Amino acid sequence: MALPKDFEATMRKYALQNAAQFGGKANSGAVIGKILAENPALKPQIKDIAAAVSDVLKSVNRLSVEKQVEELARLAPELLEKKKAEKKDLPELKNAVMGQVVTRIPPEPSKYAHIGHALSFLINYMYAKKYNGKCFVRFEDTNPELSRKEFADAMLEDMKYLGIQPSKVAHISNDMPMLYDYAEKLIRQGNAFVCLCNQEKMRELRHEGFGCSCRSKDAKNNIGEWKSMLGKKYGAGDAVLRLKGDMQSPNHVMRDPVIFRISLAEHYLQGSKYCVWPLYDFANSVEDGVMGITHVMRSSEFGTMRIELQDKIKEMLKLPKQRVIQYGRFNVVGAVTQGRELRKLMEEGKVKSWDDPQLVTIKALRRRGIQPETYWELAIEVGLSPTETNFDWHLIAAVNRKILDPKCNRYFYVESPKQITVKGAQERKLELKLHPDLPDGGKRHFVAKDRFHVSKKDYDEVSKLKSGSLVRLMDCLNFQKPNGSFTFDSVEYERYRMNGSMIIQWLPADDPCLMNAKILMPDGSLSKGLAEAAAANIKVGEIVQFTRFGFCRLESRDEQAKELSFIYCHS
Ligand SMILES: [Zn+2]
Repeated sequence: MALPKDFEATMRKYALQNAAQFGGKANSGAVIGKILAENPALKPQIKDIAAAVSDVLKSVNRLSVEKQVEELARLAPELLEKKKAEKKDLPELKNAVMGQVVTRIPPEPSKYAHIGHALSFLINYMYAKKYNGKCFVRFEDTNPELSRKEFADAMLEDMKYLGIQPSKVAHISNDMPMLYDYAEKLIRQGNAFVCLCNQEKMRELRHEGFGCSCRSKDAKNNIGEWKSMLGKKYGAGDAVLRLKGDMQSPNHVMRDPVIFRISLAEHYLQGSKYCVWPLYDFANSVEDGVMGITHVMRSSEFGTMRIELQDKIKEMLKLPKQRVIQYGRFNVVGAVTQGRELRKLMEEGKVKSWDDPQLVTIKALRRRGIQPETYWELAIEVGLSPTETNFDWHLIAAVNRKILDPKCNRYFYVESPKQITVKGAQERKLELKLHPDLPDGGKRHFVAKDRFHVSKKDYDEVSKLKSGSLVRLMDCLNFQKPNGSFTFDSVEYERYRMNGSMIIQWLPADDPCLMNAKILMPDGSLSKGLAEAAAANIKVGEIVQFTRFGFCRLESRDEQAKELSFIYCHS
């Protein structure tokens, strides 16, 4: 008994569905199972079916997942995976009172923020929003050697891009008199002392768990030396203020940590007004307390050692403590995020700017079309995960694609064009939508004759096909692989589709209005080619989808050369 007439299409749709669900490779058992479930009468023919399915799988598994989904959408859209509509949200905070949650975003303005910072900024901001509370941005700019206006400005711009609207923007360096008052309070209480030991000796004693002789000075002496520090009587490294902690504590952070040091470097906001600067834990503890921060959300990589120290400082100064919520740390796999490594790449000239497409700074990702909504979605993923989350570019692109897809216009682009003539093709006028799902969206028009540009890659692939194989110029016509010349084939689209032939991208070679296009790829190389005439209307900054190529963002245009310069976002 022969297999049913539409059997080819049945096999193909289930093969595509299974492949698309499982990373591009369909499993023959699963596909046969589906076919038999739909048509149990075929069971006696399972041997023929298995052989036929195996052939179909060979052709389907060769396609990329994107192509599989694309074909499935045409062949059997009902089999496409349904997106779950459920909206994820951050987990609830225990004992949080509506309207009374205050969080903070505490960046050090010493680098360009990357995606890791963005997610941590957002988690703090989203919690404040969730409880109708406040979120402060507080620049931790008490390291005058590293803090720069350029970085602070860039971070504020990034936050604006991400959709963060802080209730207030503060700079710790503006609070120096207050921080000095708290330091003096600690000294008077006998909780802090000025240490004049050299660094090496200090390190040694801390390691061994012994206090230095400076520890036993009385408060009056310490106040005198503290004033001398403030009065620039000591040079950098000659004197520090240390907290009287516990020299025997197994937590080394607690062993009389330094809380103020001398730096004579010029500060980008304060100039040379101050030479004594607080260290991170002290400044942080005081500011959190004074600003009335209720909740601190931080990555678990921060550890608990410093929390003990910060709590100690708050106790000594009778400042309120915050509820600390730790989320799992997250890594961006394969990306350079360490400031030190970034600076090295920059010095070696491997990376030219902070928005270089090889980086994952917010600036670079913005250039590559990563949308603010994508960060919000990823932040919820991280906020929900108590364990480590690994992001790779693939995941970031997948989230972003969902956001771009419904709103980006489609255009044709042909990379490294080669010209072909399809013998026997009649002139045809085509009207295509700028976006397939927007009924009221704009249209593009093509007049296709018999000469076409196709990409070198497609051309080479067609050359490998058996002579006489069918090839489709997408949305236009079918032709047969040359037997000497490319020959028009009038086979109707339906039959062509079942055949599973190649679909390739094209442009009319006789169109005088084609645009030159170059696309900066993530590895720094340039893709050069031609874009359709309607691409002249793309605005600088706009993201479009070049069909069968990927999402690209227009960076600049050269009207005279009719040339458009894009950056590649993702597939
Ligand atoms: Zn000492």
